[in-house]
Amino acid sequence: MICPRCKTLGEKSDLQKVSISGIEVDICQECGGIWFDKQEFGQVISASQSDIKHIHSLLENTREFDKTKDVELECPKCGQLMFKYRYMYTSNIYIDSCEKCEGIWIDKGELLQIIEYLDQASKVDPEKEAAVLVKLNQIKLEYQQREKEFIDSLVRLDDRAKNPTSKAFGEVLQSIYSFLYKKGL
Ligand SMILES: [Zn+2]
Ligand SMILES: [Zn+2]
Repeated sequence: MICPRCKTLGEKSDLQKVSISGIEVDICQECGGIWFDKQEFGQVISASQSDIKHIHSLLENTREFDKTKDVELECPKCGQLMFKYRYMYTSNIYIDSCEKCEGIWIDKGELLQIIEYLDQASKVDPEKEAAVLVKLNQIKLEYQQREKEFIDSLVRLDDRAKNPTSKAFGEVLQSIYSFLYKKGL
């Protein structure tokens, strides 16, 4: 396979097979990019960090690439234009993916960035966690309060229904009760 990144620079560079924790991926020794066939990416992400760092060190001395001058890449496997997506929605890492063969291309250094990003994301900040719990509790209390107000208002409606000015009103109330009953409330 020809490197999709080098191709955009008018160069032909063959990808070479290397193994990360027993998973074969294709690397470019010119630009330091890595090609993952379908599902290989997920497997490598959960591979041992020391293996990933080893591959990373192999590609360290490759050409630097200015990501701000990024262009659309062709899938090295099936030639289709790949689309870029933001890894995990919140990272600042943009990777190329082929819709057709589901392969993934990542540029130099991005694998390590992804590993570091996942590492950070897995560390729960106890302060943030406590703040979320407080907020959740607040929402629960507010909800209970509203529920109580709703039931109180039904009771008031019920009082009015016992002294009906309109028969239809009593019927509406009856249907609300049977609705609540069906819901198990
Ligand atoms: Zn390349
Ligand atoms: Zn493809």
